[in-house]
Amino acid sequence: MSRTVILGAGISGHTAATRLRQRLGREHEVVVVTPNAKWNWIPSNIWVGVGLMTSDDVTFPLAPVYQKLGITYVQAKATEIHPEGDSANPAPYVAVEHTSTERRGEVERLTYDYLVNATGPKLNFGAVQGLGPDGHSFSVCTAAHAEDSAKALEGVIAKLRAGERQTLVIGTSHGTCTCEGAAFEYVFNVEHEIRSRGLRHMADIIYISNEHELGDFGVAGLHVKVGGFVTHSKTWAESLYAERGIRWILQAHVERVEPGEVFYETLDGVHHSLRFDFAMLLPPFGGVGLRSFDRSGNDTTSELFAPNGFMRVDAEYTPKPFEQWDAGDWPSSYQTPRYDNVFAVGIAFAPPHQISRPFKSPNGTVITPSPPRTGMPSGIMGRVVANTIADRIKHGGAAPAHTASMARMGAACIASAGASLLRGTAAAMTMYPIVPDYKRFPVYGRDLRYTFGEIGLGAHWIKRILHHAFIWKAKAKPGWQFIPE
Ligand SMILES: Cc1cc2nc3c(=O)[nH]c(=O)nc-3n(C[C@H](O)[C@H](O)[C@H](O)COP(=O)(O)OP(=O)(O)OC[C@H]3O[C@@H](n4cnc5c(N)ncnc54)[C@H](O)[C@@H]3O)c2cc1C
Repeated sequence: MSRTVILGAGISGHTAATRLRQRLGREHEVVVVTPNAKWNWIPSNIWVGVGLMTSDDVTFPLAPVYQKLGITYVQAKATEIHPEGDSANPAPYVAVEHTSTERRGEVERLTYDYLVNATGPKLNFGAVQGLGPDGHSFSVCTAAHAEDSAKALEGVIAKLRAGERQTLVIGTSHGTCTCEGAAFEYVFNVEHEIRSRGLRHMADIIYISNEHELGDFGVAGLHVKVGGFVTHSKTWAESLYAERGIRWILQAHVERVEPGEVFYETLDGVHHSLRFDFAMLLPPFGGVGLRSFDRSGNDTTSELFAPNGFMRVDAEYTPKPFEQWDAGDWPSSYQTPRYDNVFAVGIAFAPPHQISRPFKSPNGTVITPSPPRTGMPSGIMGRVVANTIADRIKHGGAAPAHTASMARMGAACIASAGASLLRGTAAAMTMYPIVPDYKRFPVYGRDLRYTFGEIGLGAHWIKRILHHAFIWKAKAKPGWQFIPE
């Protein structure tokens, strides 16, 4: 009898829980601790954000799914990790605070044999004054945020119809943001919606980003093979923005947002401002603020977690110049160095360094995308760690870890550029590996046989099919096991 506690029911945590349940007999307990009552297919929040889907289309209640699968569901947020127990009892435990209406605020200790931290990001709106739903800009990071964005966008469209010009600013905020792909999708979906209503000539649409060049996406851009030619994502993205008449501002760090005006610094150190009628700006991500303690109650948070709050795993974290960064620095087992029964997956693990080249303005402001940990790698990490834990439970703690480094893993990404059954488009991209490896692939850092990009209606259909497939899988409906991460 063992107990594995998984913190977080997002893409990586839910995958870890369901895959672990699949591999273990019912005598072994799988527990999921998560503050949210509903699962959210976050990629489709983009379509909620333009009013094409509702919150209900992209979320579903977790409790019935976990009940069906025999997973213990604790609606709570984890606050502390005690991997050595305490002076009275050496059994490791996590402290959680309940969030359900019935048990709100109640604190509980959950002991574990294995622990998976899959808590994803803290949406750090506080890093930029006036940013976010409590400030003066919108977000699409949660289904509720996306619904608010859609309502505001409706207001903008009504004004366009009434003949009032509108300026829309969409992109990233803080210089260290990640998830540029989501900002890309949202700006193109908004543009598509406005164009399809015949109002495009009335709207100024501006993309603002911390990327050094368009098409960087936080993965240092990519060379892709299209129609026999090798082209860079910069060329590809620039032509796309130019074709749709979307102006771009790059190398930008948003300093503050005031009602109708965004203030930002660019990499040359110059401060600018831009007036807007609608702004959707992604927040920077940080760890969710878990703290850890040793057996004597000493705070070990700075050992287990990086300063940004993400958990240290089996990566090479020694600071070094960009030129010395190596694909081998990236973690593969996601096991913490100090405790071989504690893992961190998805956005919750601390990357060893950025993937894109780092830049600083003359004022010392870092303006470089943080590395994305998108859905596919997050799901793969969840599965790999579930396999490691299952092997160790079945065959003993010395069973070797399963591995999946982002420098050895490929990823497929389909970025929606406008949703419509007949007039929609999406950019389908695959890359191998995600983290470029110039030792194995000296010219481009990636294997061009598996790195390609294509834009068209077909990719939109695939994106739409994936929406249904991944929700089907997450609901553990018949055959879910065969849908890959
Ligand atoms: C708008 C948007 C669009 C995107 N589109 C795409 C896309 O098209 N393709 C793609 O591959 N990726 C996309 N992504 C990225 C993708 O959503 C993430 O890579 C993925 O969700 C990361 O998975 P995760 O499990 O690490 O985190 P999450 O999915 O965010 O899950 C984290 C979980 O932890 C829970 N949690 C938080 N704090 C605690 C705590 N203290 N204790 C316990 N649980 C906690 C949360 O409630 C949540 O359940 C998009 C992201 C955004 C924001």
